[in-house]
Amino acid sequence: MSAYQKITPIANQILKKYDLCDHCLGRLFSKQLHLSSNKLLGRKLKKNSKSNPRCYICKNLFENLNYFLKLMLDSASSHSYSSFNVGITIKPSIIDRDDVIRSKYKLKGIDGVKTDITKELVKLFSKKTKKKFDYLDSEIVFTVNLKDESCSVRSKSLTLSGRYVKHARDFSQKQKSCSNCAGKGCRICDFHGISEYDSVEGEISQFLFKKLGGTTAKFTWIGGEDKSSLILGTGRPFFVKIQNPHKRKLRSNSAKLEHIEISNMKIVSDSPKKPLKFNSLVEAKISTSSKIDSKLLQKLKILPKNPIVVYEKSGKRSEKKILSIKYKKHDDASFTLFFKFEGGLPVKRFVTGDDVSPGLSQTLGMPCKCVEFDFHDVEVK
Ligand SMILES: [Zn+2]
Ligand SMILES: [Zn+2]
Repeated sequence: MSAYQKITPIANQILKKYDLCDHCLGRLFSKQLHLSSNKLLGRKLKKNSKSNPRCYICKNLFENLNYFLKLMLDSASSHSYSSFNVGITIKPSIIDRDDVIRSKYKLKGIDGVKTDITKELVKLFSKKTKKKFDYLDSEIVFTVNLKDESCSVRSKSLTLSGRYVKHARDFSQKQKSCSNCAGKGCRICDFHGISEYDSVEGEISQFLFKKLGGTTAKFTWIGGEDKSSLILGTGRPFFVKIQNPHKRKLRSNSAKLEHIEISNMKIVSDSPKKPLKFNSLVEAKISTSSKIDSKLLQKLKILPKNPIVVYEKSGKRSEKKILSIKYKKHDDASFTLFFKFEGGLPVKRFVTGDDVSPGLSQTLGMPCKCVEFDFHDVEVK
């Protein structure tokens, strides 16, 4: 007796008691027969009967899937993507009735009705759009609610790396969070988490939101700077993760914005998990409280010989090396320092010697102050 002959009496038994659509009937036996189309099997088991009563399990939901396909197409219309996944919500009563049939007729190892509806929607959508179904790591995910007939779409976050150069002083690196939501995103800030765009962070965010869409932008900076610092050379590297972007490609990898220029923009797999090691090349203007001469400034030459110890308020202690140092005296009470050091050394505190040892003031034996400092380059090791 063939497998098909074996199931026919059970199918007939079920059909005597319950009206089922082709999809729901076929699904109960297709795995056993190693068939891929539930619909065709269901039709065959019903001996091609043309009558189409209301399905006991799904109430003919399978006939309406084109309506939900349309909802999916509409909700993804502003997105660019190559792969998708689908999650669905259906009425619990549908699942309950499916369970009734499955347990009553001891049907094991078959797809549930929810799985089958999902599979059908995936099939319809990929046929229509030619996009790839990706179960584990898709670029967009649909949530189709067949109960209240709605559909929403979320996209995978996108991480970019780049560098910025800042030619204007008095422009902060970081942006204050939206005061209403503390950065989480709300209606007032249009879900961006920031409501103003007057900083490096703000300008880059605004640029990316315009190009890629998205809600929040989370930055990982390779070092920090003062509001008054210029960032020159090839600029400071950064990583930025955009949540829920609509586009996933930038036409150009550089842009001139109002206060900064960004370059080397590229899509990367993720922001760095551990802090990256980097060196900064800085020019600092120093003023001193007493008279200096060239002989005194020669003392600065010893600074690269030993690590500089930095103490934080938290009790954390770290060591930073100064890799090279040069200076230029301006007058009796000011000079410029050009130095390269391991990223993370706080420049202003190093100059005053505030919980940084040895500091510049200590080394010269007089209180010194950093008037201004600019970055000539930031090298990632
Ligand atoms: Zn059905
Ligand atoms: Zn907000």
